[in-house]
Amino acid sequence: MNRRGRPLATLAPDWARLGADRPMTILPQARTEALLAEALATLGVAVERGLGVATIEQDAVGVAATLTDGGTARTPVLFAADGAHSTVRKALGLDFPGDAWPEPWRLMDVDLEGPPTDEGWVDLRPDGPLICLPFSGRTFRLITFGADPLSALSADWRVGEVRWSSEFRVSHRVAERLNVGRICLGGDAAHIHSPMGARGMNLGIEDAFVFAACAADFLKGEPARLDDYGRLRHAVDAKVVNGVRSVTSMIRASSPAADLARRLLLPVAARLPFVIDRALRVGMGLDHPVRVR
Ligand SMILES: Cc1cc2nc3c(=O)[nH]c(=O)nc-3n(C[C@H](O)[C@H](O)[C@H](O)COP(=O)(O)OP(=O)(O)OC[C@H]3O[C@@H](n4cnc5c(N)ncnc54)[C@H](O)[C@@H]3O)c2cc1C
Repeated sequence: MNRRGRPLATLAPDWARLGADRPMTILPQARTEALLAEALATLGVAVERGLGVATIEQDAVGVAATLTDGGTARTPVLFAADGAHSTVRKALGLDFPGDAWPEPWRLMDVDLEGPPTDEGWVDLRPDGPLICLPFSGRTFRLITFGADPLSALSADWRVGEVRWSSEFRVSHRVAERLNVGRICLGGDAAHIHSPMGARGMNLGIEDAFVFAACAADFLKGEPARLDDYGRLRHAVDAKVVNGVRSVTSMIRASSPAADLARRLLLPVAARLPFVIDRALRVGMGLDHPVRVR
């Protein structure tokens, strides 16, 4: 953690003490999606791209969907992970309460000569934090809501090719409930938050894992198990979203008081093992057990 380019605090993880069997791995999300698609293929399931759910209806024995190509599908239970603007969540009439921050956050994948490739950092700057993560080779991912991510880099580094850039806005929301009858929501359809903490996708994968256990029991004749899914995951998802919102608010705040608090507190906090462990456990998703009951 730096402040205006000068080191403020360093987190040096002791993975074994955290109970992790390997260090935190940073993968481009496209690679994670490819690995999941490969795993599905070994189970005989092919991902169909470019095909969506248009409408849904459920009755006592299953869920019927019409598809965007005019076809239909029927399933005994439905897990809807159709993103933040979820068609299914809207069709169920579920509220998605929370708040949205107005400023655009910028993303850039850029080649840099100069910074270390084995550590990431956050630089607390007057116009907003700059997060820099080594991605692959000499390519780094920059995330900021400050003006221009490149202008915030050290003058000693050489900026190479900008490989990709994008913008997004941050919201913190959790669906009012995660199951209605035989339909369950998961992933960004159920919860969205800032990328600080690197939790969104991993939380969605946890949702899917718990749904699979609950749905298997439901189909074997335990009718309350989809309610279990909704109850278990709403509690976990809401807690993570609130925690991520608090941490992001602390880093985002630009008042002189907030700047002073960060300058005084962060160097102290980073020397306290329980604080470091807590922060790393959040980033690695080790801050709660994944309960299926
Ligand atoms: C800058 C940034 C950095 C991030 N970093 C991390 C990180 O380090 N770690 C992490 O865990 N998370 C991270 N996240 C969050 C992560 O990207 C999301 O939480 C994750 O992509 C959500 O996955 P999802 O499948 O729920 O939703 P999405 O990725 O939005 O996928 C939804 C899918 O549903 C499809 N769809 C939409 N409508 C329909 C329909 N009607 N019928 C059928 N399909 C439909 C869409 O085409 C899409 O394929 C980050 C996010 C951002 C913005």
